[in-house]
Formats: sequence, C-alpha cells, structure tokens
Amino acid sequence: MKCKLAVYSLIVMTATHANGESKPWATLIITNAAVYTVDRQHPNAEAVAVIGDRIVAVGSRAEIDLWRGPQTQAIDAGGKLLLPGFNDAHVHFIQGGAQLDQVQLTEAAKPEEFARRIAAQVKKTPKGEWILGGRWDETKWPRPDLPDKNLVDPVSGEAPVFVERYDGHEALANSAAMKLAGVDAKTADVPGGVVVRDASGNPTGIFKDAAMALIYKAIPPMTHEQRLRATRAALKHAASLGVTSVQHMNPEFADVAVYSELAEKGELTTRIYAVPMETEWRDQAKVGIRHAWGSSYLRLGAVKGYADGSLGSRTAYMFEPFIDDPGNRGLLSDEMHPPGAMHDRLMQADAAGLQLRVHAIGDRAISMILDIFADIEKANGYHDQRFAIEHAQHMARKDFERFAKLHVIASMQPYHAIDDGRWAEARLGHDRARYSYAWRSFLDHGVMLAFGTDWPVAPLDPLQGLYAAVTRATLDGKNPGGWIPEEKITLPEAIEAYTMGAAFAEFQEHEKGSITPGKLADMVIMSDNIFDVKPEAIRNVKVRTTIVGGRVVYGEPANR
Ligand SMILES: [Zn+2]
Repeated sequence: MKCKLAVYSLIVMTATHANGESKPWATLIITNAAVYTVDRQHPNAEAVAVIGDRIVAVGSRAEIDLWRGPQTQAIDAGGKLLLPGFNDAHVHFIQGGAQLDQVQLTEAAKPEEFARRIAAQVKKTPKGEWILGGRWDETKWPRPDLPDKNLVDPVSGEAPVFVERYDGHEALANSAAMKLAGVDAKTADVPGGVVVRDASGNPTGIFKDAAMALIYKAIPPMTHEQRLRATRAALKHAASLGVTSVQHMNPEFADVAVYSELAEKGELTTRIYAVPMETEWRDQAKVGIRHAWGSSYLRLGAVKGYADGSLGSRTAYMFEPFIDDPGNRGLLSDEMHPPGAMHDRLMQADAAGLQLRVHAIGDRAISMILDIFADIEKANGYHDQRFAIEHAQHMARKDFERFAKLHVIASMQPYHAIDDGRWAEARLGHDRARYSYAWRSFLDHGVMLAFGTDWPVAPLDPLQGLYAAVTRATLDGKNPGGWIPEEKITLPEAIEAYTMGAAFAEFQEHEKGSITPGKLADMVIMSDNIFDVKPEAIRNVKVRTTIVGGRVVYGEPANR
C-alpha cells in the first residue's frame, strides 16, 4: 500500500491523542455504513476516514471515530451500502451529454410516434441546426422494418435530420440532410459501409457504418460552447448515477480540450481517461504521451480502433453468415481496409507506449485482432501493455485461451446482453450464440473483465449493468431464468468488473477501484443493499450519495 499521509500532514490539522501519538484528523468520515470494499484482504467494514482526496482508514466504527476532529465533516450512511465509485470502461461521454438534450426515439414504439417526436424537436431547434441523436430501435415496432426518408420528410421540411439507430451503426437522413451532403442516386458506395437504395437506386435515407460519413461530413463540428454544455450535462448525469470514473472511447481532441479546461477550473466531478482514435496515434506519441499519462482527473495515453460493426446492423464480422441473411458475414471497418494498415499503426502505437483498445464484436473480427495483438507481442515483447478488446461480444470457443494467454482485457457492457439477447439468436442461431457476452467463460479462463455501458448506446446507470450480469434476463421478459444462463456471473464478480477491473483497464488499480487506505476517496452510498435484495430488484436500486475525491458531488452534503 502506498502511504500518502506525508502530503496531507502539511495541510491538515493534527491532534495529539491520549496515547501521545500524533496523527492528522480526517476531513471526512463516513460512519454507520455497510462497507463492501472490493478489497479482497478486507472485504467488509463499518466506516471510512478520508483526508483531502484520499482514503486513510477503513474499519470499525470505533476505529474510525479516532480520526474525528473539530473540523471533520461526517456522513451518517444510515446503515446503507457503501461501495467504491463505479468506473465505466467504455463511454462516449460528450455524445452522451449532448444527447440528453436531443430527440429521444428509443422509446418510440411505432413509426408514427417516431415522426411525432421529430416534429416536436424541429419546432424547438434553432433554424439551420441539425436534428441529431435519436437512438431509434425499429425492433420495437409492430413491423420491424427500417425507417426511410418518407417517414420524416413531411414533418421536418428544410431542417436537416440525421438520427442514429441505438447501436450507432446505422442512421436515417431526411431529404434536406442528403441535399446538404450532396448525396443522391449517383453517390457511390463506400468500403465498410452501405447506402441503402430503393428499386430505382435512390438512397432511402438509411446509411450503414462507414457510409454514415457521407452525411456526417456535412454536419458542422460542435462548437466549444456546445461541447462545454454537453460535458457539464454528462458530469451531472454521471454523478447522479454513482459513476466516478469514465473511459471515453474515441473522443475528438476538441473534447479533450474541454476536459482540460474543466479540470483546470476544478469542475470535473468524474475522472476521465480519454482514448482517441488509433488513426491519430502519432498526435499522442509525438509529445511522448504513454499509457495513463496525466492527472487523477484527466488522463490520455491509449488509442481506440474499430475492427467491425455491430450485430444489430448485421455488420459484426463473423466466420459464418448470419442465419437471417445468408451470404452476409458482416463487414470489417474502414480502418481494416486493408487489415495490414491497422496492424502497422497498432504495432507502432504499442512501441510508443500507448495502450491499444480495439472494438471487435463478431467472432472473426475478434480473432483477427487477437492475431494482430499476438504479432505485436512477438515483435515488441510483453510489457504489461494491457491490450483490450472492446465489446468482445461473440466469441469463437477456440479463442478464449488465446485471449487469456495474451493478457487481453475483455471490456464489456452487460446491458447489451439483455438488450440484444431479445433477437441475437435470430441472427446467429442457438448454437452459435452460446459464447455471446460470455462473462463466465472469460473469468473461468482467467481473463480480466472491465465493465461499462457504451453510453449513450445503453443507459449509463451501473445498476442496470449489475442486474444484467447476474440475471441475463432479457428486456422483453422472455428469459426470466437468463439468456444463456451458463454465462451469468455473481454479484461480487460483477461489482469487481465495474470497479477494480475497469481501474485495471486504465492502469489505475493502485489508485482506485476499491475502498482501501491510500486510494482516491471515490465512493457511493446506495439506497438499498444490493446483496440483500432479489437479483431482479437490483435494477431498481438508486445511488443516494456520490463522493469523488472526498467531495460530495451528488446527494445530501456532509455535515459537522
Ligand atoms: Zn462505443
């Protein structure tokens, strides 16, 4: 354990105790708590003492009372559960924050409702601004057909609309958007993407994967002001859900600039590890940034790549064709055209000390990335580089051992299993779905799991993820005993993946992830004890108080 007390003794008052021993007083103590520490040496306790932004003691009520001085703030947890703050290992934080203000289409249960919500958003949006976001899900409609421009043109007029499917792998444009982007029947297809067309070759408005760029290039980038607004909204949302750290996948550098500004102002209430695109790896490497470089609130030093698309869009890259789309094995991403280019960039990024985190969903995409990681380890040597495969959704059985041997982290989002589990077997068939979201198999092979959400693809709420991991009960209620129940994990395992596992994925396991003396004081008090409620009820449990770096950032403030 690292002792940070020397630093704080300069700034805090010290007391001479009855036994003559001099020690500093706590700035904050949390008492009367059911502490679940995620520290295997000392899993349970009653109280915690904090000095500044660090935990200094974890123990019984009587032990922690010794740290109480005249200036000490206190929180009486009322017997509630205290956990380490949640660390979401895969988010798109600023997009999530921006979306809190955008049109919400996920719950639109039929096309008419979809159009009505677009109409309402058009009304409240300044002229000329794009209508974005959406997260629609046509599988919830009475007839699950993809929407087209004719659904939204009548209600949107001149306002450009480009709304994404909830998985982010396809999006719907209206005619105004296609006109601004210069897309028409003559527009060619794009490698790694699909422009969906009608019988006469006219784009229907649906753009898949790399083809989405045809429209996105016409959208002006977010202004600095818009990014600040989105980040502040995201920080507030994260605090309310007990998410004290996030790992932001493929931010733009302008996003990192906003984080840096907010860090300087002391406004970050969520710690951020920013993971820009691997195609831009040189931008970090040229100034000597290596894995997890930065401060406790903002770090850089990793790169994110994409190997393929998603299962929902049938663009996950598979060994065998989709059952419901024979002849289609999915798509490699445009970064993988040709695969050798990605291989070379990742090789150089690893040599520069950058961490590699690659999106791979289909079994074949995962296998190809493992091949690349194996080549890199062979060439550059093993140096605890903590390769991660983001999602690792549909595994080939033969690859679990390789995954473990290469020390690859499985960075996964349990909520996707109960969401996609509604229809995944229609795509893959029962047998091929067996190693989907295979948390139990990963842990049994000794693979480190890091949990997150992919917010805004899924809700940011960690309790939904814990619920999904222990029940695997699909959202449609059709699998109350769990979809592929063999892959369920226990609640302690799920909490660990969401705290220590995620901390490990960002090289911070000595700084956070458990309630341990010396670590950052990032903790949450829950409304109910998730170890006592039925597994089905875990998703209803709320966060009562969120503490980041010894400061209450959500809930009742501490008092003297
Ligand atoms: Zn993502």
